[in-house]
Parts: sequence; C-alpha cells; structure tokens
Amino acid sequence: MSEAKKDTLVYEYGGGVYINPTNRCTNRCRFCLRNNSDGVADHDLWLSKEPTAEEIIADLTPFLPTKKITFCGFGEPMMRLDIIETVSAFAKENGVYVKVNTNGQANLFYGRDVLPSLVGLVDGFSISLNASNAADYQTECRSVYGEDAYPAILDFARRSVALGFDTTLSVVDYLPESEIEACRKISDDIGAVFRVRHMG
Ligand code: SF4
Repeated sequence: MSEAKKDTLVYEYGGGVYINPTNRCTNRCRFCLRNNSDGVADHDLWLSKEPTAEEIIADLTPFLPTKKITFCGFGEPMMRLDIIETVSAFAKENGVYVKVNTNGQANLFYGRDVLPSLVGLVDGFSISLNASNAADYQTECRSVYGEDAYPAILDFARRSVALGFDTTLSVVDYLPESEIEACRKISDDIGAVFRVRHMG
C-alpha cells in the first residue's frame, strides 16, 4: 500500500510564504485556478481534510524567520477564522507581517462583522473586487449569496480601511480597460490600494 500524500498546508511561491487552510469557498469564480489545475507551480493544494491550527504552525515553523505570510491557498481562507486567529497570533509573536487574500464575503458568511477580532493579528487584506457592479460580479464569481455579495464586499473593504488594516482591492487583468478604471475609482473612493492581478 502506498503512503498517503501529505497535504500542502504551507508553501513557498515567488519568494512568498503562503498558508492553505481550506478548499471551501462561497464563490465559484469562472477564472478560479481550481477549475483546471491542482495547485500552484508544483504544489498540490487539494486537501484531504481541513487542517488544524497546530498542524499549520508545525509546517510553518521551518519557514521562519520570514517577513510575511499570506493566507491564500485553494479556497477562501476567511472560512477558517479560527485558524487565521491562532496562526496569526503565532506569526505576530515571531515578528511576521500577516496578509489575508480574501473574497471579502466573511461578514455575510458569519452574519457579523469579524474584522474587529482580527485587529493586532492580521496586518492587511487583499480583497478581490473583480467587477464594478453586483450583476457583473455575480456573473463572474457566482457567489452563494447572489447579488448580495457585492455590496457586502464593498462594506468589508470600507470597514477594513476604517480599522486601519492595509487594504487592497484587486481585479484580474483580463477585464476591459473601462471596467478596470471603474473598479479603480471604487477602490480610490473607499481609500484602498488598487491592484491589477495578472491571470497567467
Ligand atoms: S474566490 Fe478565489 S478560491 Fe473562491 S472561487 Fe473565486 S478564485 Fe476560487
């Protein structure tokens, strides 16, 4: 019998250290890497089970010291809020900057504002905006919340800025230039940093 493959909970990519806490997501984006790949570079990011914070910390420790970790992976990391809180506390004790890449729907998922509990643990959020309006967002990202997702994402971004998190709103680079500019304006109005992500 062959030995079971170990799940990739922590991986290095492009000089950064990433945490892969879940494969669940409230979206089914048309452009999601999960639709036609098993991971990033040679890292297989499908999980055989949801990891514990202790398992992630054990796998993160060999990567220390590092300047920054990013919760990202193959799913929506904010669906593992418990993991983000515990692993971020460990990271902060080790002087590590903590970033979370998110679809910005956590407050809908939990039915409450989860951001205040992450002050002092998480340093920044990179939120995927992906469209300038709710209908286009839903066409591209197919949220379980339908068109309620988009205003909730904008609200999440506003709250993130207000609480002092480094806040980035991003779009994928295949959008038409006019749409990218409309998203840039929304981001500027919220007071976030705007970023156009390359989809390879
Ligand atoms: S939000 Fe991210 S993980 Fe979720 S479906 Fe979209 S691209 Fe994939």
